[in-house]
Amino acid sequence: LVVLENVNKHFGELHVLKDINLTINRGEVVVVIGPSGGGKSTLCRSINRLEPIDGGTILLDGKKLPSEGKELARLRADVGMVFQSFNLFAHKTILENVTLGPIKVRKRGKQEAEKHAMELLDRVGIAAQAQKFPAQLSGGQQQRAAIARALAMKPKVMLFDEPTSALDPEMVKEVLDVMTGLAQEGMTMIVVTHEMGFARRAAQKVVFMADGQVVEESTPEEFFTNARTDRAKDFLSKIL
Ligand code: ATP
Ligand code: MG
Repeated sequence: LVVLENVNKHFGELHVLKDINLTINRGEVVVVIGPSGGGKSTLCRSINRLEPIDGGTILLDGKKLPSEGKELARLRADVGMVFQSFNLFAHKTILENVTLGPIKVRKRGKQEAEKHAMELLDRVGIAAQAQKFPAQLSGGQQQRAAIARALAMKPKVMLFDEPTSALDPEMVKEVLDVMTGLAQEGMTMIVVTHEMGFARRAAQKVVFMADGQVVEESTPEEFFTNARTDRAKDFLSKIL
């Protein structure tokens, strides 16, 4: 569903993505982990072209991601993104946050968009907060609203960049539970996280990234019990 071929990216002199080759199949959950500065966020951002790449190709559902224009907007709408900071529109209600994309980009009617939004808010457990503003919600609730907002676009793939790392511990579980549910329903997901429990429970594949490269790619079981490279072993010894 998502294929990266020889993807390269520089920030000036800094080579942040080095010949990345990665295939994410439909319905697969891929967890990306690795040390800070390794290029995980840049990888996510390049998949929906928030960040232009300077070499290689990214295919989404068999189509090459263009670098700009209408076609890009259409393909980008197929990629849902959830960030560490919740990025909700502060001056819109939770319901408005969720319906905005479907109405503006997908050209849905307001009523239909609201009906779907309420179903999604119910599913992530915050239907009661629909009329509130983001600042009136807890971090965990805001993050679940951000997930509902991304889902409202009916994306083909969901990208999560450290979705729980800004949350208080007691709120981490409620967000991970929503993500685990999505995984079980067959959503294709790319998840940057250091939540090993989630990786073991929900992922089919773990990608270990360091210094802009995919250093290891294996099953969670294999990776956590029997990492192949010293780089990965060293990383694991620091976080486990
Ligand atoms: P973390 O675990 O801390 O989130 P990461 O693996 O997500 O790290 P990236 O954010 O992708 O790493 O950053 C990779 C490298 O690119 C880092 O050296 C970072 O400083 C650099 N970088 C990221 N964004 C930019 C930018 N907009 N301009 C210049 N350099 C950048
Ligand atoms: Mg990052």
